[in-house]
Amino acid sequence: MTSRLVVVSNRIGDPRKAAAGGLAVALGDALSESGGLWFGWSGKVVAGGARGEGDLHLQPSGKVTLATLDLGSDDHAAYYAGYSNRVLWPVFHYRLDLAQFDDGYFEGYQRVNRLFARKLSTLLKPDDIIWVHDYHLIPLAAELRALGCRQRIGFFLHIPMPPPLVMAAIPAHDMLMRSLFAYDLIGLQSEADVAHFARYVEMEAGAERLGRDQYRAFGQQVCARAFPIGIDVDEFQALAQTPESIETRETLRSQYPLRQLLIGVDRLDYSKGLPQRLRAFHRLLADYPENRNSATLIQVATPTREGVESYEDIRRELEGLSGQINGEYGELDWMPVRYIHRTLARRRLPGLYRAGRVALVTPLRDGMNLVAKEFVAAQDAADPGVLVLSRFAGAAEQMRAALLVNPYDIGATAGAVQRALRMPLSERVERHQALLAGVREHDVHRWRREFLQALQAAERAPG
Ligand code: ADP
Repeated sequence: MTSRLVVVSNRIGDPRKAAAGGLAVALGDALSESGGLWFGWSGKVVAGGARGEGDLHLQPSGKVTLATLDLGSDDHAAYYAGYSNRVLWPVFHYRLDLAQFDDGYFEGYQRVNRLFARKLSTLLKPDDIIWVHDYHLIPLAAELRALGCRQRIGFFLHIPMPPPLVMAAIPAHDMLMRSLFAYDLIGLQSEADVAHFARYVEMEAGAERLGRDQYRAFGQQVCARAFPIGIDVDEFQALAQTPESIETRETLRSQYPLRQLLIGVDRLDYSKGLPQRLRAFHRLLADYPENRNSATLIQVATPTREGVESYEDIRRELEGLSGQINGEYGELDWMPVRYIHRTLARRRLPGLYRAGRVALVTPLRDGMNLVAKEFVAAQDAADPGVLVLSRFAGAAEQMRAALLVNPYDIGATAGAVQRALRMPLSERVERHQALLAGVREHDVHRWRREFLQALQAAERAPG
């Protein structure tokens, strides 16, 4: 690629940091190839009201320049904790009951997007190619266009696109969707998301479909397609060889010699279906008593978005449920649930996954879910664990060889876990081979290559 790549996201990842995940590494590779720029919020909130202003910092990191912006406290509260996390996140995950529509949030969201556009536009070159990430920044291209930017701009939505009637509950839904048409390419995680987008624009905006991926509405044309995100399989398998990872696996194996470990790794988020997962585990112990004294659920849940009420509620609910299961079924020498409200060091993750006989990846709704893919990549191919995966994760479109479950159906989920625990080696190996082949084929490098090729090739509306 000859153009310089500019990546824009709410938070930037430094690709050179040891803790960088697959996404930061993949975007860092793409940025390094083109000597690119990564633009985002600095993570710093400075005192001050709704200013729509912020200091810009430029910092080289290898061949990449990191450009970060501080945000005023009121701007940050309305844009991030407000509109992004109290409106867009719950609605896009189908949780209208948790959405808090507040005009001030939307104003803050627009103000910060305008600020991002103003600051970014001063750094752009005419033939840059710009890749904007996620729901925090939906209006960014429209704001850049208003400032006269004519570069190619692509958008990738990491979270689900809801069905049209769910989207229509957002008071400003038409403005949000209209602003998507300022992009040249919209990338979504799954075919289901593309279908929702297509139905929205046809029903609500009277869009014309021009060929398979092209839509014309609001006097503009855009291409929308699925680009399922993946992981960096080699990077993750290399992590599995670190001393921390091996030590984690050995420690767990010696503590649990029967190896009936069930593993859950998530951010503590209401979209992840954690209470339903604990209830399914409770049902497993109740309905299949042979698992008492042997099956243990290790649930690691990273604290996230603390201060947003719905996150406090889910935390209390989980603590209550795990205490209840341990009280009812625990023995002096066995606790059924180990619930850890913490982030596990990334280097230990593959060891945890590999010690597990079963992974429980049971979100109520998820754009993709990378834990499912990491679990598969971390397994010993000769004696692999089994993936129990929610049909409502984007990953379920590709990972058909997992045991797919409806996480709302507690009894059926418990039944699937029982089946996973009893699955013969030959079936585990066969399913794992199919899953690993898919995880390798649709890895994070293919994702970014295909997105950027499609963005280069996107047909542009005249004018
Ligand atoms: P989301 O982006 O909604 O959090 P994903 O499953 O797509 O969900 O990605 C989560 C990423 O964060 C994965 O790379 C996973 O390994 C990591 N992660 C999630 N929870 C934890 C945890 N408790 N400790 C360490 N890493 C975690």
